[in-house]
Amino acid sequence: MQIGELGEFGLIDRIAQRVQLRNPSSLTGIGDDAAVVAGNEKSSLLTTDLLLEGVHFDLTYFPMKHLGYKAAMVGFSDIYAMNGLPKQLVVSLGISKKFSVENIDELYEGILLACTQHGVDLVGGDTSASLTGLTINVSVLGECEPEKTAYRSGAKPTDLICVTGDLGAAYMGLLLLEREKTVFETNANAAPQLAGHEYIVQRYLKPEAARSTVLNMREAGVTPTAMIDISDGLSSDMLHLCRQSNVGARLYLDKIPIAKQTFDMAEEMNFDAVTAALNGGDDYELLFTLPLSLHEKVKDLGRVDVIGHIVEPENGAMIVPPNGEPVALQAQGFR
Ligand code: ADP
Ligand code: MG
Repeated sequence: MQIGELGEFGLIDRIAQRVQLRNPSSLTGIGDDAAVVAGNEKSSLLTTDLLLEGVHFDLTYFPMKHLGYKAAMVGFSDIYAMNGLPKQLVVSLGISKKFSVENIDELYEGILLACTQHGVDLVGGDTSASLTGLTINVSVLGECEPEKTAYRSGAKPTDLICVTGDLGAAYMGLLLLEREKTVFETNANAAPQLAGHEYIVQRYLKPEAARSTVLNMREAGVTPTAMIDISDGLSSDMLHLCRQSNVGARLYLDKIPIAKQTFDMAEEMNFDAVTAALNGGDDYELLFTLPLSLHEKVKDLGRVDVIGHIVEPENGAMIVPPNGEPVALQAQGFR
């Protein structure tokens, strides 16, 4: 169905019909001039992310449902990175003529699946025609007790440096999808060769924000001294944390969690898996610091590895190979 048949208001109604509010704090959702969200004694956390077709995603291999899921997850991850819980979401779309109503349905299927899994309500958004492909803006409202809020700035020398999950898989997934796209462009009959690489492809197309770690930390009575989500790669994000905490770091290269499937793809592509982990990005794992005295609690946090420790600022931020000299971490920034 062409979006023109429904029109802007018809499309918004169609989205609104699919939404059931679940959080008591979501007083009014889609349908008025603004959503109404109840306040409480907690701090509100507010974050926004902009995703542009051709810059942040390529629709030749990104299914709309996955894109919706990932867009929501990127926002949720920022809230978890403050040690908070996401509660409300607004989604604004710029839609060009090439998209059908069914495409937008699929996008919202992914957004609403992410919301269901993370206990978040879609409470509004904005919809506009666009001349240049798809634009998605996601803003998320979350909450956290003020004393539990984790900033980038709280790390202290001797703190343990911890990371959730594994790193570099999403980047190897992206390289694989790009490789198969190039093959397809030269031979339209070539089927993409993704079999056996489901893990890394999934890590790129359908990242999972680290909600369980935040819940486990609450259960264990642990509050990180500092936290950041890994969106640009371990190097850049570790450097952000060090700069804002005015500390240095020692990361141990052989402690960095990297999945077997990531190593396998890296070997096949003649690429260094550690480079993917350090500079790849799109992992949406959490990087956080804990006081050394909480070492025994790390095992209660789920998939968390201790990969190093915080040092005095004059010692710099370095990565230590098993049998070699420390190397300074390098910021790569966005590509
Ligand atoms: P306004 O003219 O005040 O911006 P709109 O007609 O754009 O109002 O929006 C009407 C209602 O629909 C608002 O509650 C808005 O938050 C919601 N809405 C609009 N677009 C979307 C969307 N893409 N996803 C979810 N809710 C939306
Ligand atoms: Mg509007």
